[in-house]
Amino acid sequence: MPRVLDPQLKRALAERIHYYNELGIYDFYRRPATAGTLTDAVDEAQPEQREPMTPRNAAAIAAVVTPEENMFEIANPKPESSVEDPVRALRVIREDLGDCTRCKLHKQGRKQIVFGVGNPKAELMFIGEAPGADEDQQGEPFVGRAGQLLNNMIKAMGLRREDVYIANIIKCRPPGNRTPERDECETCSPFLMRQIAVIKPKAIVALGAVAAKTLLAINAPMAELRGHWYDFRGTRLAVTYHPAFLLRDPRQKKETWKDLQMVMKELGLAPATKAAE
Ligand code: URA
Repeated sequence: MPRVLDPQLKRALAERIHYYNELGIYDFYRRPATAGTLTDAVDEAQPEQREPMTPRNAAAIAAVVTPEENMFEIANPKPESSVEDPVRALRVIREDLGDCTRCKLHKQGRKQIVFGVGNPKAELMFIGEAPGADEDQQGEPFVGRAGQLLNNMIKAMGLRREDVYIANIIKCRPPGNRTPERDECETCSPFLMRQIAVIKPKAIVALGAVAAKTLLAINAPMAELRGHWYDFRGTRLAVTYHPAFLLRDPRQKKETWKDLQMVMKELGLAPATKAAE
């Protein structure tokens, strides 16, 4: 039974949603249990209040958060929601992002925003952590040494870089390539969510702990996170080691190759015989 909202609460809710929309956030969801109040629903949009989840909980939440359950989508359509062509829809998201100053990284030496690159209709998306120096310079994700290794991984899967879509959790280089901070991930990742919603990949590969933990809201070691499928808003998501980590510890390439083979099987790609070097 739909609840009738108190007009004052409704106004407060509308103002809060408008505030989040201005930040580029359009996705809200309610708790699976019905015990919460409407104020809980608003609090759900405050990621800092989220509790860390176990893999099982995260999968359960992802399964229940369907577009039909997005309470606010109809009243507050995303600017790209009426744009069918994914190339144009991605352009709309890029325009909405603008010369972003939503988090502190804009004044900490970033040269440019690194939006994402690749096939707007890709079946496979790779999501890394944050641009490094080369990416900041060139405006494209994964173009440095880690990018070379990612290219080799893609090739070993029988694909070309231009077949897939590559993006990061955050779009600006953190100073000294430090790990992105939580507020930066939470401010920036809604734009990535919108990119994913436009591209509609069949599978996503989260590269490394920052990508996995941000996307799945799970706090677990990489060794536990990798090797399984997760349901990310209706899309299959696998976790594997970040190419930069593999450059430091090449012994883990074997495990990464197992993860990629799992992805290939899911996408119906012919099994390859040679692992990425
Ligand atoms: N590392 C990342 O996580 N992303 C890049 O784009 C480059 C290096």
